[in-house]
Amino acid sequence: MILFGPPGAGKGTQAAILSEHYGIPQLATGDILRNAVEAQDTLGRRVESILEAGELVDDETMLGVINARLDKADCAKGFILDGFPRTVKQAQDLDALLNSRNAHLDCVIELETVASELYARVDNRVSSGLSPPRSDDTFEILTNRLQVYHDSTAPVVPFYEKKLILWKIDGMKTVEEVTQQIMTILKKIKNK
Ligand code: AMP
Repeated sequence: MILFGPPGAGKGTQAAILSEHYGIPQLATGDILRNAVEAQDTLGRRVESILEAGELVDDETMLGVINARLDKADCAKGFILDGFPRTVKQAQDLDALLNSRNAHLDCVIELETVASELYARVDNRVSSGLSPPRSDDTFEILTNRLQVYHDSTAPVVPFYEKKLILWKIDGMKTVEEVTQQIMTILKKIKNK
C-alpha cells in the first residue's frame, strides 16, 4: 500500500503504526535518503543539498532506491510506501517495477490535510523535541516542500483515482482516529 499526503500529514506516524500492526516494513524514502546523507555515502553526498532545499531528488535515482529496497526479503509479504511515489513518473515506474515482480498495489490512502495545520504540526515536531531534528523542518523549507507537493506530487492523485485504488481519509483527526480509518479501509479491501 501507499500512504500519500503532503509533508506533515502524518504518513510516517501512520506507516510506523501499521508496519508494527501488520508485520510488514515501512519504506520511507525520506529516511533512506537521510540515512545516506548521515553516512555520507555516494548517494548521500549527491542528494544532501536537494534535501536541504526541500526539492525532489530525480526520478531515476529514486527508482533505484526503491528497487534496491524492494529486493530485501522483508518486502516479500507486503510493504507500506511512505514518501514514494512523489511524481507521476515515479508512479508509472513503480507500476512497471511491481509488474516485473508479479506484485501489485492493494490501495493508495491519501491523508487529506489543511495547509495551516501542517505548519503547526511541523512547529510542534521541532519544539517538542520528540523526533530527531530535521534540517528541512523550517518555515521556509516547509513552504517550498508544500509548493513542490502541489506542483509535482498532487498530480499523482488522479493517476491512482483512475485505477480505482485511491481512498481519501481525513488526515487532520487524532493519530488513533486516522489509524482506525485506514484499518477500516484495509478490512474492506481484504473482504472484497
Ligand atoms: P520526507 O521525509 O518524506 O518528507 O522526505 C524528505 C526529503 O527527501 C524530501 O523533501 C525530498 O527532498 C526527498 N525525497 C523523499 N522521497 C522522495 C521521492 N519519492 N522523490 C524525490 N525526493 C524524495
